[in-house]
Amino acid sequence: MSANDVVVAVDVGGTGMKCALVRPDGTVVRTERHPTGAERGPDAVVESILDIAAGLAGKARADGLNPVALGIAVPGVVDQAAGVAVWSANIGFRDVPLRDLAVARLGLPTALGHDVRVGGLAEARLGAGRGTGHVLFVAIGTGIAAAHVVDGSAAVGAHGAAGEFGHILVRPGGPLCGCGRPGCLEAVASAGAVARRYAELAGTAATAAEVADRAAAGESAARRVWAEAVEALADGLASVQALFDVETVVIGGGLAQAGPRLFDPLGAALHERMTFHREPRLVPAALGDEAGCLGAALLALDSLEK
Ligand SMILES: [Zn+2]
Repeated sequence: MSANDVVVAVDVGGTGMKCALVRPDGTVVRTERHPTGAERGPDAVVESILDIAAGLAGKARADGLNPVALGIAVPGVVDQAAGVAVWSANIGFRDVPLRDLAVARLGLPTALGHDVRVGGLAEARLGAGRGTGHVLFVAIGTGIAAAHVVDGSAAVGAHGAAGEFGHILVRPGGPLCGCGRPGCLEAVASAGAVARRYAELAGTAATAAEVADRAAAGESAARRVWAEAVEALADGLASVQALFDVETVVIGGGLAQAGPRLFDPLGAALHERMTFHREPRLVPAALGDEAGCLGAALLALDSLEK
């Protein structure tokens, strides 16, 4: 690696793409945001990803920098080894060979990763999990997903689908999940689930953040909904801790914005559930919505070393 080397990183979300030029030490030298435009269909999104990445590589060269690799993060099911975006509900990817398409277009070594897994990679290596070898990164927003990162590498699973923490069964017979099964964690504790449950109980709409505020102010319906979400999250985390014995749990995504209103009761509920297991440290994510972009860059750098 030379002093002018940078990685082109693109984090593709359901509504927007966060893009950056990142140095090997994680320093960001340029950022850009673009709309995903998922309503145009997956082929158009792929074209945009390639155009934006090629544009960033060109801007890097114009600034005297040397783009050495491209990292792309996408949601859904990702076959990282094959470089294929297998499936995505919100963008419509079906078996898109994104890595090969990018290599053909840009001529740069390219790595394709899953948005939450690379976000976990970044939090574990550059963010809130830094310095600890065993990290669980949990993103709680409209859905819930996780990444298990050991010594700086995120487990991918046999089929590219590891880390679907939101679909751990925590409430048999409970609310129906988007995946079609009742009682998944995501159906109880995601930001969307909190808002839905509150509307059901209180008869009036509120976002998850507003529910957290109202619970803190003592409103009974909000307290009940918030407590249900926290208990379900603690059940899920206790299962994960039994399996993985992590040192640090990093929580990000919209629901983590509730700060102590989430972390204090969740820490207490998790503590109650520990028997002989060692209790993990619960910490808020540090990198915000840049985690996916930084993680895509790290993944690309890792792939160069192999
Ligand atoms: Zn589910």
